[in-house]
Amino acid sequence: MERRIRGSSLNGYLKFIKKKWGTSGMEQCMRDIGIDDMTFKDGHYYQDEVVGNVLRWVHREKGREAVVEAGGSILHNLGILSWLVRFANISTLAEKFPKNYSEVYTFGKCWVDTSDPKNITISFKGVGYYEEACLAWEGICKEALAMTKTKGRVTHTKCERLGDERCVFLVEL
Ligand SMILES: [Zn+2]
Repeated sequence: MERRIRGSSLNGYLKFIKKKWGTSGMEQCMRDIGIDDMTFKDGHYYQDEVVGNVLRWVHREKGREAVVEAGGSILHNLGILSWLVRFANISTLAEKFPKNYSEVYTFGKCWVDTSDPKNITISFKGVGYYEEACLAWEGICKEALAMTKTKGRVTHTKCERLGDERCVFLVEL
């Protein structure tokens, strides 16, 4: 199966690296993973493997929490969401995830269940095929709480890599 992701997401991660560790940090990352002679257009689609390599680089060079933080930073690059978020509560924002997901990824699927507003679940199929993808989504869920000024806790309760049917993130309020 071919997995592709929108360039805006890839550029978002590179922008995060540049902001955190400067142009030299970004250039080092691009060199290390062999994309230093490439540019990515926001509206085009690229191999998800490239994003995987970027996130693995962040994990290896900067640690686990940096990958979580990188995930969270992506939420600020999703035009409509970052506009909406100022007016939305966490449930309303989370309910936008599946549509937004399908606009960014050509593979996998995202579901959100807000029927119990104290225990929101965000699940994915075919997404958490490498560890850093799960860490990034943990960061996105945490940032969704922060951006909506909601107190709560995010737990990655089920994971496809550990044999579960889906990756599940539980947001407890
Ligand atoms: Zn997972």
